Amino acid sequence: MSSYREILDWFALHREASHSELERLIATADPERLDYAMGLAREVAVQNYGHGVFVRGLVEVSNRCVGGCYYCGLRTENRNINRYALSEEEIVEACKGGYELGLRSVVLQGGEVYDMSQKVASVVGNIKSLMPDVAVTLSLGEQDAEVYELWRKAGADRYLLRHETATKGHYARLHPERMRYDNRQRCLANLKTLGYQVGAGFMVGSPFQGTEELAHEIEYLLGLQPPMVGIGPYIPQCDTPFANQKRGSVERTLLMVSLVRMALPKALIPSTTALASSDAQGMTRGVLAGANVVMPNITPHKYRADYAIYDGKKSSGTEAGEGLRQLQAELGAIGYEAVLTRGDHLDFMKR
Ligand code: SAM
Ligand code: SF4
Repeated sequence: MSSYREILDWFALHREASHSELERLIATADPERLDYAMGLAREVAVQNYGHGVFVRGLVEVSNRCVGGCYYCGLRTENRNINRYALSEEEIVEACKGGYELGLRSVVLQGGEVYDMSQKVASVVGNIKSLMPDVAVTLSLGEQDAEVYELWRKAGADRYLLRHETATKGHYARLHPERMRYDNRQRCLANLKTLGYQVGAGFMVGSPFQGTEELAHEIEYLLGLQPPMVGIGPYIPQCDTPFANQKRGSVERTLLMVSLVRMALPKALIPSTTALASSDAQGMTRGVLAGANVVMPNITPHKYRADYAIYDGKKSSGTEAGEGLRQLQAELGAIGYEAVLTRGDHLDFMKR
């Protein structure tokens, strides 16, 4: 039988492992094995993107949501939340603030609603005409193909829609009946057809997830080949049906980031806010595990506490440039550099 390191070495080089080998890599990791995996993943990231980490300004445009995800504080059934939606002007101003700090990549994220399509198209058009060198990423949930097309035509470059779990039965345990695995998959396919750089992704340690499901995540991503993958630990939120579930492990999240980096060498992989919210060194540990994107918050301050996806969410950002300087210093201390350009996936750079 091959050793743990032999399986990892082979996977990093050839992106091949059996299901039972993947499960073994996940189930039998220990601090030393994690360190080894992170080292291999880092090498793969550096070969493709050097020591640069792309910085994107995150604007949490609205916490209104029709979704009912059992894990998320923004779910429509949660009455214990102050709902807000930024105006067009507030969104554009937030992006301009990021632009003045040097950011050339913004992410507009929010709950899923169906009454904002024209507003979003107009905001994207506005950002693109005022700041043509800025890449715009949207993350606004499941929408009709026509809506995705409208936003793409308005100038949106990328779309983040985590698949949440690659296992259909598991998906059904995390969501109410009205939310369908197949619809999520259809949305991902539509986004790809429209030419978006698409981001999939999943939580680590979500309720009912075991090593079987995590191994399947790697297999699913090898098949889908998404340009971006968001991976963060599950963190409970007090007003959800999963309030009393265990939080996801930081170490297991780092291992999954490393395995995904090996599986998809060129992918854009953020060191997520959920990771930074779970560990004081979470941001840099994510980068050292092979992540190459960070998304500091540039939402106007007065709204931040209301974007309560999970408890204890970190919301410090780049406001007043101070946060950005701190980010640059933290990355510098581990030998990396914040890159403020559009930050496209390698395969999309020449387009
Ligand atoms: N509504 C959009 C959607 O669902 O795609 C975008 C916003 S949603 C808040 C962004 C991501 O947050 C989700 O894809 C999910 O993986 C993550 N998330 C939600 N609740 C979480 C929790 N309790 N812990 C960690 N991540 C969570
Ligand atoms: Fe809504 Fe997204 Fe939260 Fe689900 S994860 S409840 S769709 S904001």
